[in-house]
Amino acid sequence: MPDKQHIKNEIVLRGIPASHGISIGQAYLFLKDTPVVEERIIQPKEIEFEQERFSRSLDKSSKELNKILLFAQEKIGEAKAKVLDAQIMVLEDPVLIGSIKKRITSEKRNAEFIVSDEIGKYAALMLKAEDEYMHERAHDMEDLKNRIIRNLLQERLISKLEGSVIVVAHTLTPADTMILSRNHVLGYATDRGGITSHAALFSRSLKIPAIVGLGDVSRSVINGDLLILDGYSGTLIVNPTDERMKHYEKKRERMNKFEQQLTNLKDLPAETIDGHRVELSANIELLDELDYVVVQGSQGIGLYRTESLLLNSDDFPSEEEQYQEYKKVTDRVHPHRVILRTFDIGGDKIAPATADESNPFLGWRGIRISLDRPDIFLNQLRAMLRASVRKNLSIMFPMVATLEEVRMAKRYVRKAKAELRSQGVKFNDKTPIGVMIEVPSAALMISQIAAEVDFVSIGTNDLTQYLLAVDRGNTLVSKLYRQFDPSVVNTLKHVINGAHKQGIWAGICGEMGGNPLAVPLLIGLGIDELSVVPAVLPEIKKIIRSLNYSLMKELAVQAMGASTSDEVERMMSKFFKKHLPEIPLDN
Ligand code: PEP
Ligand code: MG
Repeated sequence: MPDKQHIKNEIVLRGIPASHGISIGQAYLFLKDTPVVEERIIQPKEIEFEQERFSRSLDKSSKELNKILLFAQEKIGEAKAKVLDAQIMVLEDPVLIGSIKKRITSEKRNAEFIVSDEIGKYAALMLKAEDEYMHERAHDMEDLKNRIIRNLLQERLISKLEGSVIVVAHTLTPADTMILSRNHVLGYATDRGGITSHAALFSRSLKIPAIVGLGDVSRSVINGDLLILDGYSGTLIVNPTDERMKHYEKKRERMNKFEQQLTNLKDLPAETIDGHRVELSANIELLDELDYVVVQGSQGIGLYRTESLLLNSDDFPSEEEQYQEYKKVTDRVHPHRVILRTFDIGGDKIAPATADESNPFLGWRGIRISLDRPDIFLNQLRAMLRASVRKNLSIMFPMVATLEEVRMAKRYVRKAKAELRSQGVKFNDKTPIGVMIEVPSAALMISQIAAEVDFVSIGTNDLTQYLLAVDRGNTLVSKLYRQFDPSVVNTLKHVINGAHKQGIWAGICGEMGGNPLAVPLLIGLGIDELSVVPAVLPEIKKIIRSLNYSLMKELAVQAMGASTSDEVERMMSKFFKKHLPEIPLDN
C-alpha cells in the first residue's frame, strides 16, 4: 500500500495499450483475486437479504459446477468427475445449508463469514484425520467454500460500483470485463494481460479504453485516486499534475476530432486510389454491438465469436436460443455476410474443464472440444444452419490444426443438415464453410486445407502466439509477442498464396488487421478481407482509400525480405510517415 506522500505524487505507469481512447476518472480497485472474508454484523432487517444472497450464490455455484461437469464428462476422467459430483452433493446437503442459514439469522453475521466458518470447520476436521482420502476431501471442501464465497463477493463487488470509474485490477477475465461493463466503466487498467488476451478484446468491442500489462498498478493505486488512462499509448497517470491534465484533455480533443472526420467515409467502399477493393468487415462478440457496426460502415461481420453466448449464462444455450441469436445477426446485417465461428472455448476463455490444464492454450480448445462433444457441436451447427436461409451466413471453425479435423467437422455439418432435412426444416445447403488459420500446422498445410473449404480467415492473435511460442496473455513475455516478426509476415504470404491457388479468398480476423500500421502490409500481401474491431473501421478505411495498391505490394515484398521484427516495424513506420502523414499514430 503506498504511503500518503506517494499517493499525492504523480505516478506514471506504462503498459500495453489494449483499447483506444482517453479516460479521466477515479480508480476503483477490483480485487477479487485476494478475497478477504470480512466479518460484518448485520441488522435484523438485512437478514432476509443476506439469506437471499446466500441462496443465489448456492444456485450460481451449483450451475457452474454442473456446467463444468457437462463440459468435462469424458475429459477429466471418472475420478475428477466424481469430485465434482461430490461437491454438488455437498451444495445440496440440507444439514449443512440449514445450519448456515440458521447461523446467519441467529448470529446476525454476513453470509460469506458464516460460509467460511462453517465449511472451514468441516474442512479442518477432515484435515486432522490421518487418512489421505479425507485430506483430499478437505481440499474439495475448501474449493467449494471458495466458490461460494467468490460468488458472494463477486455480487457485492459489482453492485458496489457506483458512478463512473476506471476499474483497476490484477487481472480481468472476459466474463469480469463484460459483467463490470454493465456499470458505467470509463476504463480498465490491469497488472497482467497481453494485447490480444480475451479481456482486452472485450474492452475493445465494448469501446472502453483499456491498458493491460501495467505490472503493479493494482498496488500503486488506491480507491478514489484520480487517473488518466491513455489507451492509445498505454500510459496510465495516477494523481496527474494540472499540466498533465491539460495535455491529455487536448490530446483527447485532437483524437476525437480526427475520429469525427472519419464519419463521412461510412458509405464509401474500402478501395485504394488505383481501384483495388478489399472487403472490410467487423469482429463482434455481442449482439449489442450490431448497431455500432452499422454506424461505422461495415460491410458485414467477418467474425462473430459465439462463445460469448456462454459467458452470461450458467447453462449452455439451447438450439432454439442460439438460433434466435444467430437469426438476429443475419437479419440485421443482410444483405452483407455474417461469419459465425463455432464455440472457441478453452485457452484463456471460458475454462472447459477445471483449471487443471497446465498448458490450456495447447490443450482442449476450440474445434477439439466441439469434435469431442458432438452433442454440443451438432446443437450449434443446427442452430446456425437454421439461420442460414437468407443466404448471407457462413460457418467457420476455430483452432484447426489438421486436415482430419476439417473433414470431421464437415462430416458433422452434413449430419446436422441431414437431421434438419428429416424434420423438414429449411436451410441454405450451400452455406460456405471456412476455417481459421491460426495454428502453424494448418498454415503449412494451407493447400490441402484450402482445397476442402470455401474460405480461410487468419487468426493472427493465435498464429503469432503459436509461431513464436509466446503466450498471448502473459506479461512476462509480452515483449516477445511481435506480430511484425518476419516469420509471421512470411507465413501470412504463404497462406494467402495457398488460398488463392485453390481459388478461395483469405481474410484476417486477428487484431493485426485492425492495427493501422499493419494495414498497408496486409493489403500488399494480397489479403482479400480485413475483419476488425468496429471502433477502428473508419480509420482503416481511410488508410486504404489514401494509398495505391502498387505501393503496398512493394512494401510487402520489402517486409518479406526483412530479418527481424524491428526491421519490419521500422519499414512500416517510415512508410506511414511518408504516405499517411495525416493519420495520427498512437503516441
Ligand atoms: C485470433 O486468434 O486471431 C482470433 C481472431 O481468434 P481469438 O482472438 O478469438 O482467439
Ligand atoms: Mg484465435
